[in-house]
Amino acid sequence: MKDDKKNYGFMTNAVHAGDQRPGPSGAVGMPIYQNSTYEYSGAQSYGEVLYTRLSNTPNHVMLAQKIAALEQTESALVMASGMAAISMALLVAVEKGQHLVTQADLYGGTHTFLNHDFGGLGRTFSTFDGGDLATLERELKKKPAAVYLESISNPLMRIPDLVRIAEMAKKAGALLLIDNTFCSPYLFNPATIGFDLVLHSATKYLNGHSDVIAGAVAGTKKLVDKVHNLLNHMGGSLDPNSCFLLNRGIMTLGPRMRAHQEGAMALAEALSAHSKVKNVRYPGLKSHPDHQRALELFRGFGGMIAFEYAGTGTETDAFLSRLKLPYIAPSLGGVESLITRPVTTSHSGISAAERAKLGVHDNLVRLSVGVEDAQDLVADFVSALDK
Ligand code: PLP
Repeated sequence: MKDDKKNYGFMTNAVHAGDQRPGPSGAVGMPIYQNSTYEYSGAQSYGEVLYTRLSNTPNHVMLAQKIAALEQTESALVMASGMAAISMALLVAVEKGQHLVTQADLYGGTHTFLNHDFGGLGRTFSTFDGGDLATLERELKKKPAAVYLESISNPLMRIPDLVRIAEMAKKAGALLLIDNTFCSPYLFNPATIGFDLVLHSATKYLNGHSDVIAGAVAGTKKLVDKVHNLLNHMGGSLDPNSCFLLNRGIMTLGPRMRAHQEGAMALAEALSAHSKVKNVRYPGLKSHPDHQRALELFRGFGGMIAFEYAGTGTETDAFLSRLKLPYIAPSLGGVESLITRPVTTSHSGISAAERAKLGVHDNLVRLSVGVEDAQDLVADFVSALDK
């Protein structure tokens, strides 16, 4: 795009930010640069040599510019998975010998990385309940290098007091990192309230079609450059074909999010009204404990719902298998509805005792609402619940 990206709205940037005009071939959209290496053209440093592992090809640069425009950050970077983005950003923000404070209720993969790998890599961490600012205050006395949050927690759908936590962390001199996967940049831009690094499993809403594994880091140029350096050394760049697919997915992020939200609101209301369902957790419902916060911070309520089936884990599985439309599968953010019992998927690596402490019960169901017609989804769920 020739003009300044700041002058455009979200959906214009989703389509155009980062595009090259005139491109070498005149192609509309992103050509796939299916090359590992490029002709030398006088590079002054290793990082300037065009090579696909260095994430500096036209495919990578275009995507980075687009994601930076959508997240309203100085810089961004794509990589081979959301976990690559999370682990490398954490290793950059928290150096050897330093401490991290995180929210307790986290995506299972992040939880496992922190519990299994982080200590061996010379770092320490402690947790606080996202709603318990007194504990956070105490933890901040340990002078952590960073504080790590999720904008909507997985799978319990809580929204921490992000503004207040950001203020407290900044005052304590800690960097602020956030996994913004559940919101996507369509709902929320954490950098606008002071977050230094915004992380995504681009596998989810950004790509949106359950056919790519990818990650993204957005933030200040200084920090993103550091993550880029580590990525170059560790490997884990996104391959050019996935860059193409991810770019194609991002172009429709806005219309997809609108459709996800429409279906999610209708389903959340229908589930709340059904006797076989307990504790529907959707930020768009007035009954959600963080509804007011979502209204103030976000531009919508998103497409994720969690709820408890009135029955055991086995009975919950039987209910899931009666559904005709959603796939019973982990992951989220695709055009097709995906439903899972976190105890058997994303949170299976966490001990039963710890899951019980977090509130991740056997009958908890996590639903990623796709873009199917809302009335078809509601009819499918009501029919499966009634049986
Ligand atoms: N963050 C969240 C909130 C997730 O749900 C996931 C995956 O389910 C990840 C990060 C990890 O992403 P990936 O599977 O792309 O590595």
